[in-house]
Order: sequence, then structure tokens, then C-alpha cells
Amino acid sequence: MHPASFGYRAPGSLEEAFGLLQEHGEDARLLAGGHSLIPAMKLRLTQPELLIDLRRVPGLSGIRADGETLIIGALATHTEVSTSETVRRLAPGLADTAAVIGDWQVRNRGTIGGSVAHADPAADLPVTLTALNASFVLASSAGERTAPADDFFVDFFTTALESHEILTAIRIPLLPSPARTGYAKLPHPASGYVVVSAAAALSAGESGACTGARVVLGGVAGTPHRAAAAEAALEGQELTPDVMAAAARQAVEGIDPHADSYADEEYKRHMAAIYARRAIEAAAARG
Ligand SMILES: Cc1cc2nc3c(=O)[nH]c(=O)nc-3n(C[C@H](O)[C@H](O)[C@H](O)COP(=O)(O)OP(=O)(O)OC[C@H]3O[C@@H](n4cnc5c(N)ncnc54)[C@H](O)[C@@H]3O)c2cc1C
Repeated sequence: MHPASFGYRAPGSLEEAFGLLQEHGEDARLLAGGHSLIPAMKLRLTQPELLIDLRRVPGLSGIRADGETLIIGALATHTEVSTSETVRRLAPGLADTAAVIGDWQVRNRGTIGGSVAHADPAADLPVTLTALNASFVLASSAGERTAPADDFFVDFFTTALESHEILTAIRIPLLPSPARTGYAKLPHPASGYVVVSAAAALSAGESGACTGARVVLGGVAGTPHRAAAAEAALEGQELTPDVMAAAARQAVEGIDPHADSYADEEYKRHMAAIYARRAIEAAAARG
């Protein structure tokens, strides 16, 4: 299917992009890798009059560590994130996550910013970025604000991003080294998107006891789901197999996963506990 006809602009600066957003309002959409937006346009789920291509805007790419923060430009592709030595060292679970998105073509074109802004409940990166306590830098002609992942994802395909704003970067506070981060995903056998997934980010003191835990489930709600009971079950404990297994069981307590044509509620709940355990174990193994 072909999309409805649309205009195309490729601004050379953020200011120019803000001007186009202001001029065209809701009729314009930002274009990054195009791997979610273009399929949606072909299905006529969205029919923007103008695409504003961000790829010529300087300053939106690159991956670097700045003090205690890992900063990833919104236009960094999934391949760049998965193969970055900096990400592998400072947030290995994030590199693992980007590596299991779609196929090579998708990973070479799709961007971290596009995935975050699109907020597909079956996407991989929002889950891990929430576990990593990431913040999103949202810029507009009025200036910049930062939204933590816990507040940014509002509902299915809905975020705190406003139509005049551009997501410019993702900021991730560094965990103590070695960064205990892990991701595990049950992919849909046809599309590769998440059926259920889980991400864990753990801190541990010198004794090996867990001093901080964030455990997040994907595919079970409209937004990444913080598994608070699992986090509480890990904190202060030695990360033994029994402790991790018990935390994974608690991760699914009280969740009410949405069923779809592939997986019903009960199946998702069962698999979410298994994948929560895998993510927690993967994170702990990095110590
Ligand atoms: C065949 C296929 C398989 C896939 N499999 C997976 C998978 O297994 N897991 C997974 O997570 N994803 C998967 N995806 C989606 C893929 O990861 C997309 O790349 C991603 O969701 C969107 O990134 P993009 O750069 O292509 O964004 P685009 O499609 O260009 O944009 C998506 C949306 O975000 C907005 N946007 C983009 N960048 C910005 C920005 N910087 N600021 C504000 N708004 C912005 C756009 O306006 C648009 O609304 C798959 C896609 C395809 C086509």
C-alpha cells in the first residue's frame, strides 16, 4: 500500500526544525529512521502533510560518557547502540536490548529516539531505558526540559512529548562498575516484536548484597511496568538463585497483562515471570 501524498523537508538545524514544527503544527511529523512512521503511513494509520527529516540536524547523534552519565543522541541507530564499546562497558543490558530488535535492516535504520518517541508497548528499548532510570531531553524553541522514563511513557503509543518538541538525547545515570544490567525477551515468532520482556538494573555493595534494584516488564501493559515487589525482594539481599527466583515470581504479582491474538493473559503472566528471572540473573552475572 502507498501512503497518502506528503511534503518533505530536511532542516539543517534544530532551530529550523522548531520553526517548521511551529508553522505546520499537528500536520507535521518528525522523521528519524522511518521504520515505524512509514509503515504506519502506508497503512494510512497516520497521514501527515509534512515530514520533517531530522537526519541532517547536527548534534542529534553520537554516544558518550560525561562524568556519571551516559549520553546517547536521539538519532543513534539500534546498531550503533548495540555495537558501541561505551554502551557495552557502561550499560551492557542496553546493548543486548538493541541487538535483539527486528533484523539488520531495522537495526541499521531505526533510532533509539524514534523507538522512545513512538512508545510501542511491544518495543524493546523503553523497557530497558526505564530499568536504567533514563531521562529524555525534550527540546523546543522555548528551551529544554528533561523527563524521567517513569513519567515519560503515559499509555499505548502515548508519551509526555509535546507536538512542538524534539527528543534530542537520552541520559542514563551510570551504575557502579561492573554495571549489572540485563535484558531478556520472548519475541513474537513472526514479527520479532516483544510478546513479553524484562529488564533489570542492579547495584551491589562490596559484600555482594544488592543495594538497589529496578526491574521492569515489557509487553504486559501500555507502558513499561515497574515490578516494585520484585525490586523490594532483591534490595538488601545476597543475589542467590533462590532470592532471584522469588523476586521473579513476585514481579508478576498483581499484573493484568493485555491479551492479544498471539498470547492470552495467563500465558503472558507465566512467561513474564520466566523472563524476569532471566533478566535478573543476566544482570547479576555481570558482577
Ligand atoms: C520489520 C520491523 C521489525 C521491527 N521489530 C522491532 C522489534 O523487534 N523491537 C522493537 O523495539 N522495534 C521493532 N521495530 C521498530 C523499530 O525499532 C523502529 O526503528 C522504531 O520503533 C522507531 O524508530 P525510527 O527511528 O524508525 O522512528 P520513525 O519511524 O522515524 O518515527 C517513529 C515516531 O517517532 C517520532 N520521532 C522520531 N524521532 C523523534 C525525535 N527525535 N523526537 C520526537 N519524535 C520523534 C516520529 O515523528 C514518529 O511519530 C521494527 C520495525 C520494523 C519495520
